[in-house]
Amino acid sequence: MATIIRGGTVVTADGSFPADVEIEGGRIRAVRDQADAGEGDDVVDASGLLLMPGGIDVHTHLDMPVAPDCATCDDFYTGHRAAAFGGTTSHIDFANQQRGDSLRATLDRWLERAGGKAVIDYGFHVTIVDPSPEVMDEMASLRGWGVNSIKLFLAYKARGMMLRNDEFFNLCRRARELGLLPLVHAETGEVIDLLEQEAIAAGRTEPRWHATVRPALAEAEATNRAIALARMAGSALYVVHITCQGALAAVRQARREGAPVFGESCPQYLFFTADDLARPGFEGAKYVCSPPLRTEADQAALWEALALGDLQAFSTDHAPFRFEDQKSRGRERFDAIPNGVPAIEHRLVLLWHFGVNQGRLTPEHFVSLTSTGPARIFGIYPQKGSLAPGADADILLWDPAAAWSISTATHQMAVDYDLWEGFTGRGRPVKVWRRGELLVDGERWLGQAGSGQHLRREQAGAQVQG
Ligand code: MN
Ligand code: MN
Repeated sequence: MATIIRGGTVVTADGSFPADVEIEGGRIRAVRDQADAGEGDDVVDASGLLLMPGGIDVHTHLDMPVAPDCATCDDFYTGHRAAAFGGTTSHIDFANQQRGDSLRATLDRWLERAGGKAVIDYGFHVTIVDPSPEVMDEMASLRGWGVNSIKLFLAYKARGMMLRNDEFFNLCRRARELGLLPLVHAETGEVIDLLEQEAIAAGRTEPRWHATVRPALAEAEATNRAIALARMAGSALYVVHITCQGALAAVRQARREGAPVFGESCPQYLFFTADDLARPGFEGAKYVCSPPLRTEADQAALWEALALGDLQAFSTDHAPFRFEDQKSRGRERFDAIPNGVPAIEHRLVLLWHFGVNQGRLTPEHFVSLTSTGPARIFGIYPQKGSLAPGADADILLWDPAAAWSISTATHQMAVDYDLWEGFTGRGRPVKVWRRGELLVDGERWLGQAGSGQHLRREQAGAQVQG
């Protein structure tokens, strides 16, 4: 039995056209005029609606421990349900190495967390914090395990995650040899740690100091340095969560010079500023993430960079912590507030309404930023990120006229607040298929825990320049 989606407009990264879409065996069988429905086929009327490839969020943190008794509060079931309701059908999370651990043990620990719960398809970047000789050798196995990207930190020295310049360079060189794409969290770790310790010692303990001790210039400095080190190593580089004009300038310059450097930003950086960290009481803790929220000028620069193609992906850095009993760990001092914000559910509707409806992006560019671009960079195109015969049938039936409003009372994420509380807009998914299985039908949830699959990424990452 096939599913025939009839009478809609197909929107891809390359163009839009009216077509019927046929799904069979979890894949797209055909995209053509006037599909014939066979006996027993399921026919869906898509008149007046759009069909787009399912969203791909390449930066999330589900069920991520940050302390022995504190982990992000969406696991691979609640996070996947929220993602699917928002139109995301695949994501790439992070398997974080702890010092002394092998990469295999690291990946196994995270596969275990996802298996049995997953509903959408999931992959992992492996975070390397301890590049011992054994780990440098073991990197040769990563692509065979379905991992073609590694995450490197230039921040968080005190937490034992920051790499020295020689380590970062050497990891990029090894990544280039092996066809792995390095991702970087770029902030000047040593200086931020110093400023943070000084602030606490001086009694500056409220949430707003979190932004003060992590200046935009620290992000710009580390972004420039990471790009230079990757280029010295002959490696491509993907810069995560870009927030400010200085970091954008570094990426833009490198790309202008022909270097395979890619960048993403995230919704929180488009809508909020460091002023939100100074909200009365302890409210500012809800906005604590790293890098921190910046200024309105930075927001405008990020929108421009998305529109001009200087950024190639829009992801979330979804890292939800409950206000009541998790963010509150930092009531006495901001450096104890778990870093991160909830966003996995809202990525597409926010970018559609404030990007497409407000004339900043075309629908095709929206698809490129939320799905096709990341699929190409991370080596899963055209299995994912594509609405063409042979691709996985990850499809959004999108109603551009449907109104939405955001509230903690109705959102799917397992977190007790929402940064976009009260926001309204138009354009949202009304049906969501993952490999041909209908996960979301209007308000109804049909997803089954354990039906999501590990998305193996064995091709080299970043083969194309966006
Ligand atoms: Mn980060
Ligand atoms: Mn992150």
